Amino acid sequence: METMTLTQDMQEVLNTLGIQSVNPAYSTGQKSGSTDGERTTRDIHSPVDGSLIATVQMASVADYDQVIEQAQKAFKTWRMMPAPQRGEIVRQIGNRLRQYKEPLGKLVTYEMGKIYQEGLGEVQEMIDICDFAVGQSRQLYGFTMHSERPQHRMYDQYHPLGIIGIISAFNFPVAVWAWNAMLAAVCGNVCIWKPSEKTPLTALACQKIVAEVLKENDLPEGIFNLIIGDAEIGSKMAHDRRVPLVSATGSTRMGKKVGEAVGARLGRSLLELGGNNAIIITEHADPEMAIRATVFGAVGTCGQRCTSTRRLLIHESRYDEIKERLLKIYPTLSIGNPLDEKNLVGPLIDQDAVNSFKNALQKAQEEGGKLLVGGEVLSGEGYEGGNYVTPALVEAENYYEIVQEETFAPILYLIKYQGDVHDAVATHNAVSQGLSSAIFTTNILEAEAFLSQRGSDCGIANVNIGTSGAEIGGAFGGEKDTGGGRESGSDAWKVYMRRQTNTINYSTELPLAQGIKFDI
Ligand code: NAD
Repeated sequence: METMTLTQDMQEVLNTLGIQSVNPAYSTGQKSGSTDGERTTRDIHSPVDGSLIATVQMASVADYDQVIEQAQKAFKTWRMMPAPQRGEIVRQIGNRLRQYKEPLGKLVTYEMGKIYQEGLGEVQEMIDICDFAVGQSRQLYGFTMHSERPQHRMYDQYHPLGIIGIISAFNFPVAVWAWNAMLAAVCGNVCIWKPSEKTPLTALACQKIVAEVLKENDLPEGIFNLIIGDAEIGSKMAHDRRVPLVSATGSTRMGKKVGEAVGARLGRSLLELGGNNAIIITEHADPEMAIRATVFGAVGTCGQRCTSTRRLLIHESRYDEIKERLLKIYPTLSIGNPLDEKNLVGPLIDQDAVNSFKNALQKAQEEGGKLLVGGEVLSGEGYEGGNYVTPALVEAENYYEIVQEETFAPILYLIKYQGDVHDAVATHNAVSQGLSSAIFTTNILEAEAFLSQRGSDCGIANVNIGTSGAEIGGAFGGEKDTGGGRESGSDAWKVYMRRQTNTINYSTELPLAQGIKFDI
């Protein structure tokens, strides 16, 4: 690959965030464990223009063990700190992220390729979850129960689990870590984060920010750990009994392997995997709203969100009108450098993603689909070194093999349905994934049918809102091949804790439950 020189602006961002030209495999110590010579290195090129941003060392197995040891040690201190005091540390982390929001947002854009507005949004999501976690630190509630035995008290309480392993995907390089890490931390856990090997630099930047706060508070750096490695390190975590919970975000293929390995040792996993999300546009939809939500859902983040809209199920009475409107909008989408505010669509992450995009379009056409617009790979002025494509619209059927798969690229399948909302829901649910879903309708009966127990089978179901762009306050996750995990808001914190039921006898008798007599 031809290497472009970094712009001065980007060099300043790297300096502000403390990213070197060669960066270590993990954050603390690195005194023992393997020597640098045993580590491989990985060059990180920007999908924006192909420039070499920096190089990172990839952790070795010996590094992994050292990180585990430092996390185990830190856990002993951290778990004894009262939860609201842990919340205070998270509050300071949130404030520090506010301070670094712009450079960090820019680095997200430069390393991952999402447009700058979305890069900033991703950092904002980290800030929001910090705020949420601070409040949560005073609300780790259990129930109290009335005992059947006289002068007995029963209640349940929650304790931290220990080390939480966090494996994250490239497309949300920092937010998903924060969703997990900040809640896990107020619950008293320590974390080991293995970011995507495609986006380790934003992870390094976050780690440095957190380390500053820990140092200022005289706390061990091992409370939040970072280890940069590939699937092998993730797999080690999945097999490791010292990691009671592994939260893994990524493809269904990866999740099946992680789930199996963690399950085999009876550990816990929180799986956030692929989606194949659809919007239903019924005959009663407001077309203006439906179109705006569809376009944002389908082309936002260049179709690389787990919640991206991939299927559009349109009632036959509205099909031609919706198709025509989309055909007018798609050619006007500005594609290019995501740091340029006029562009709405940035690049795909790498050449492999471009190949999957092209292969999926070819397969869709082989199966009988019709490519209506887009599907080109862009080159030449403004696109040098980057992985730019034009978002595609394809007329298709839901049962096509390629429509049943998640292609992580901006392809939207237009699917015509006949009949009522129940027919639409049946088609909607006829895929193996179950992450996000939406219906556009002004008819309350249709809306409620979509949300009912015979409606959408997804973890997220929206009315008159698109499939992507969730708020941190709700529990996030999906069913079926999406893995069943829930993280972020609502009561998702419980997954990071172990529940203990306590019974206290304050009488001088020892009655047994169920009235059992056992006199000795
Ligand atoms: P990926 O599965 O290739 O990699 C994700 C992470 O898993 C990386 O850190 C990778 O190193 C690690 N990994 C891969 N194989 C592993 C193994 N056998 N054991 C342990 N770790 C392993 O995914 P990606 O290309 O980075 O991200 C895109 C995918 O992530 C899409 O399918 C998308 O839908 C999904 N995703 C889901 C959510 C969600 O919340 N449901 C959010 C973001 C992304």
